[in-house]
Parts: sequence; structure tokens; C-alpha cells
Amino acid sequence: MSIIDRLPQTIVDVPVPYTVTEAGEHAIEAPAIKAGHRLAPARVGRPGEQVTIWVECPNWCITDHLADPAGNAQDVNHQGAPAVLHLAADQAMSPPTEVYLSWWPGSDDVAARPCLAVDVDCEVAVYGRTAALAIADQIAAFAQSVRLLSETLPDDAPVIDSDPDMDEALRRVREGEVRS
Ligand SMILES: [Zn+2]
Repeated sequence: MSIIDRLPQTIVDVPVPYTVTEAGEHAIEAPAIKAGHRLAPARVGRPGEQVTIWVECPNWCITDHLADPAGNAQDVNHQGAPAVLHLAADQAMSPPTEVYLSWWPGSDDVAARPCLAVDVDCEVAVYGRTAALAIADQIAAFAQSVRLLSETLPDDAPVIDSDPDMDEALRRVREGEVRS
């Protein structure tokens, strides 16, 4: 029986499919993995005692599991590229709202399966598919309200762009208008 045969093939019974490499440093031959996933090396363990393991990593995951060590295999967390919404003019004062895919196989709640993470001012909440779609509907309705209100505004005054310290958010809005 090869080591590949002994590797878990699904996440149903084993939250985090992984195997510790024999020397702790050397990669083993990667076993077959299910569609939409890849085996990715990950560093786990306390500082000074870290080993490289292989984890089932969804293709949308952008986390470098080698560069971002986890305390143990159950702590490995997968994150997708965020979609970012900047509303505050002063971004240094108010972090953006971000949404991204997230999957924490070692979790015992909704994050145990791929979910939508919503990060508002560094407070992260996670939602399963139904709840995430409901949030999307709310945001779409919000966007429609923004559009309806904006369309009632008078035309812009001519831009006199001489202030190098012009508010960055306003600059982006103007650039967006130029492109559209
Ligand atoms: Zn990952």
C-alpha cells in the first residue's frame, strides 16, 4: 500500500486531509485530488517545530500556506481574493468592507464548509450559500437606492482640478466618470 492510498480522499471523515512528510521538510508525491482543488504545501506547528504538510486547497484560495504558518493542521484556513468596497472618503479612518470566500476545515461551524466571509471594520462574519445570497440581494437593493438617489442630483459643476490634495475618493469617482 503506497502512501497515496492511505491519504484521505475526501473531507467528509477527515476535516483536514494532510500527511506529515517523513522528514518534516521534504515533499511527498502528491496524491489525486478532487476537482476544483489542489494539494498545497502548508507549514504548521509552533515556531521551531514546524513541518510541511499537504492540505486540500480550493482553487480560489490565494493564501500562501507556506508563508503563513498555522499553529496546527486544524488551523489551516483558506481565503479567496477579496472584493473590496470603499465608502469612506478617509480610508485611513475607516477600513473598507471586504467579502471573500473562506474555508476553515477545522471549524465546527458554518466555516467548516466553503462560505462567504464579510469583513466590516475587521469584524468578520461568515455565511453559507443561502445567507450569502440574501446578503447579495440586500447589497443589490442598496446599490439600486444609491443609483436612484444619485440620478436625482444636478449635473456636476465643471471640475477645476488644481488641488493636489484633492480627496482620493472624489478623485476615483471622477476618473470613473471619465472612463464610463
Ligand atoms: Zn488554501
